[in-house]
Amino acid sequence: MIQEPISTEETWLQGIPVSPGIALGKIKIQISGSKEPVAYDISPEEVDAELVRFHRALQTTADQIRTLRERMIQISGEKDASIFDAHILLLQDKIILQQVQTELLKRLQNVEHIFYVVMQNYMEVLRRVDDPYLRAKTADMEDVMQRVINNLRSTEPPEDEEETEKDQVLVAYDLTPSDTAAMDASLIHGFATEIGSSVSHTAILARSMGIPAVVGLDQALLRVESHSPAILDGYKGVLILKPTKETEEYYHRLQVEKEKAYKRDLPTITRDGRNIRLSVNVEFPHEYSGIKEVGAEGVGLFRTEFFLLSNPSGMPDEEEQTRYYRKLAEGCSPHGVIFRTLDSGGDKLPCEQLRTPEPNPFLGWRGIRVSLSRPELFKQQLRAILRACADTPGCGIMFPMVSGYTEVVTAKHILQECREELERKNIPYARDLKVGIMIEVPSAAIMTDVLAREVDFFSIGTNDLTQYTIAVDRVNNRVANMFRPTHPAVIRIMDMTITAGERENIPTAICGEMAGDITLLPLLIGLGATSMSVGVHLVPIIRYAIRNLDYGQCRDMAQKALQAPNSRAIVDLSTALARKSYPALFE
Ligand code: PEP
Ligand code: MG
Repeated sequence: MIQEPISTEETWLQGIPVSPGIALGKIKIQISGSKEPVAYDISPEEVDAELVRFHRALQTTADQIRTLRERMIQISGEKDASIFDAHILLLQDKIILQQVQTELLKRLQNVEHIFYVVMQNYMEVLRRVDDPYLRAKTADMEDVMQRVINNLRSTEPPEDEEETEKDQVLVAYDLTPSDTAAMDASLIHGFATEIGSSVSHTAILARSMGIPAVVGLDQALLRVESHSPAILDGYKGVLILKPTKETEEYYHRLQVEKEKAYKRDLPTITRDGRNIRLSVNVEFPHEYSGIKEVGAEGVGLFRTEFFLLSNPSGMPDEEEQTRYYRKLAEGCSPHGVIFRTLDSGGDKLPCEQLRTPEPNPFLGWRGIRVSLSRPELFKQQLRAILRACADTPGCGIMFPMVSGYTEVVTAKHILQECREELERKNIPYARDLKVGIMIEVPSAAIMTDVLAREVDFFSIGTNDLTQYTIAVDRVNNRVANMFRPTHPAVIRIMDMTITAGERENIPTAICGEMAGDITLLPLLIGLGATSMSVGVHLVPIIRYAIRNLDYGQCRDMAQKALQAPNSRAIVDLSTALARKSYPALFE
């Protein structure tokens, strides 16, 4: 590959923000990743000595991991430290250890090489699975493998003898969880990696440790220069190389301002005193580790179908579900979690293999329709949620893809049966569990005046509501330019829903992607939504935006938007108020 000359001008690289904050410093490149150890032959007599060397390295590695675990407990408590329990278990994995021994005897090569080959085979299998959560586990295996190999090589000189520079912005192809846990935040102010995801353990640890981080910066290592100045914006997901004096000054100011404004203990309240609940959308249970860090008010949408990712044959049994849900509810306490019952089918995974494919899955067997036609499965999940929230007040349940009244009363009836079953068996359950529905199908939205009398809250899923209102597939690139949550019909349907809720005194939340868009926030607040549920990394920015809005101005603007003929006019109205209210977010 021909390497591009490194630019001498300010360059912005866009990635995925996974841990908020701003870091100013000098680039430090970390070249790591698994380097294949040199292979050399050994005699049969040397096998025992190799095995002794291997077991000593395993022991040293276990000690190092325990030290890292202790460090994490001090930084962020038991829950994140448990990542390292999994690492220790890997070191004790009997199958791996047995295979190393067998291969050593068979191949008669040095043990670091044998161990590397055995681990690569395992990782290869994991890399091929579709599930991002399982794929992320390869990073853990890689981490443990590298540590053991380094300990086997401990006679070699350490690689990095450079003097430690202060104020570093670390750039790497990838970082292992233990690289992250071992970071000294007083030296490393932020990090960027070429690969990675927001669900990786590295990202979770970065959030817990308060280190700004950006991942997915394609080919970053080819563009950066060691020791040159850089700025990492963990809110927007950018790495700025060789920033100009103006950019640097701007980020210095922003850092001070944001530290003040993004304070997690500030209430999410508009300038004229309207309270907005700010919670997060969660797909994987371990994501809750970031919730407290950013000061969110619990989980507004927990997508329970995440189970199907690791287990395509169906949902786990009631006990396993109860354990997971309880862990999440306890982790978020005193704020509640809104558990969405299984939403399978359409763009999501099926909960069982269908004998004949559906001609139109988006209009087929999905969401609450699946649950109502599998009452035993549905009841398992409902009982699990009721049990899991027994000691954590403020939790709720909501049904997805509701299209009308009968579905709601049937689902509520089944929920009541579950309560009675638990009562009869003397099993503790949440007596105050709120029951809500997602408004994402136009027929339900049109019926909200009736539905509002049946439930405790509405939550608008703007992704599906847009898809079904304007008949535009949410995952089809050919029509992506037509997918507009600000289509006047979508806005009117949202207004209808919120107004129907207000008449019956029930709140309406927004939990689709639209809630995290700072240009559209004035519109949503002006329409009367009382709660926003957004991706965890967006919480600080949305809190800042809410605190700079005036509800009265938002209401007046929303009334105008409701008369607008097209999406463009609505976006313009809302964006103008957003820019006026929080110009710093648009600079
Ligand atoms: C939505 O449809 O807007 C929503 C929040 O749910 P999902 O994206 O999981 O369908
Ligand atoms: Mg949806």
